Order: sequence, then C-alpha cells, then structure tokens
Amino acid sequence: MSIDVDRRFAVVHAALTDELDRQTARLRELTEMSADTGDPGESHNQEALIAATRRSVEQVSGALRRIAEGAYGRCEGCAGAIPAERLEVLPHARFCVPCQQKQVG
Ligand SMILES: [Zn+2]
Repeated sequence: MSIDVDRRFAVVHAALTDELDRQTARLRELTEMSADTGDPGESHNQEALIAATRRSVEQVSGALRRIAEGAYGRCEGCAGAIPAERLEVLPHARFCVPCQQKQVG
C-alpha cells in the first residue's frame, strides 16, 4: 500500500509508521501477558500500561491519517501551522502551543 505522502513529512511518516508497528506489537504483548497473570496488583499495572499504549497507538495512527489527508502539521484549534520544532518534539501534536494550553485548561 502506498500513500502519496507530502515530501516534507516523508521522514516523520516513516518514523510514525515504525512507531505504530512497535506500539501495536507492544499492545498485543501486553494484552497476551495480562491474560495469564494471577496477581491483582500486577494486573492493575498491566491495565494502566495497556491503556497508555493504546493511547499511543491512537495518537500515532491519528497523525498518520492526518498526513494522508494533508492535514498534518496544522493546528486543529486555530488552523495555523504547528511550528516544525514542536512537531520534532511531539510528532503527533494536533495543536499549536497556545491552543494546546487552552485544551488543558
Ligand atoms: Zn492553534
């Protein structure tokens, strides 16, 4: 399957694809592991890890979808461009810094 990826985002697209593979494999591992742990404390940790990993999978696949749609790198709050430095730190960022701060509260 090939998507027509904006050249500017080809590198980040490749990195996100790797990340998605890694997180998906990890999620599967965690899910399988949690099935056979009898320790309630341990399974609580597992659940937290699974939830966090699932969130990562969603964030990364969301970013890949936005790249495919040509919406990547644009703030969902103000429709402005998200600065490249921010995307370097947080490749799946959906908001610019001011809008992100508004999201949090
Ligand atoms: Zn914004």
